Amino acid sequence: MMSKTHITIGTATALVATMPTTPEGCAIAVIGGVAGGIIADNDILDNDYLGDALLGQLLAAGITALTLFLNHILGGGIINSMLESKTLLISGITIFAILYIIGMTQPHRGFTHSILALALYSVAVIIMYEPFIIPFLFGYASHLGIDLLNKSGMKLFFPLPYRICFHLCYADETANKALMIVGFVVTILMLINGLLLHINIWAGY
Ligand SMILES: [Zn+2]
Repeated sequence: MMSKTHITIGTATALVATMPTTPEGCAIAVIGGVAGGIIADNDILDNDYLGDALLGQLLAAGITALTLFLNHILGGGIINSMLESKTLLISGITIFAILYIIGMTQPHRGFTHSILALALYSVAVIIMYEPFIIPFLFGYASHLGIDLLNKSGMKLFFPLPYRICFHLCYADETANKALMIVGFVVTILMLINGLLLHINIWAGY
């Protein structure tokens, strides 16, 4: 699937799973969902003739940075909370970076598309900043779920060698765009819902 599809579906899944009722909760869901939704495809960066995978990784980094920035300038506390324990933050980022580099060296739909990678990345995320873990888990799971529909198999149970897929569709244009639009619309609706709930609660309705 296209990177943009994984990003919108990952974010939408994270928002639906966590049902945030505050701007802070929305920001946490977006960051966890975007990162979880796209990170597995860093295993195709070296063989990415259309540049889509690289675009996806850069887009995810950009959305994460922008969300953190907006949260900070609007008075949110994510960055400050993350900095409360610098040792844990640096340890989590280090483990995350090591896993990311290992992922880049692996064949496509191997290690990064496995339950093992999901578990190891989750440990890194919990150490880095625990509130990201639920949206990250759901974002990552949405990536594996979408790719399972594909006709080219993935090693879900790595290091076991079996490749699994449901043979339902190739990463074709129509299915891709339809999923991307669904993910985008659900993301926008969930963000509006979260912000309206926050205003309602804040206004005492
Ligand atoms: Zn993938």
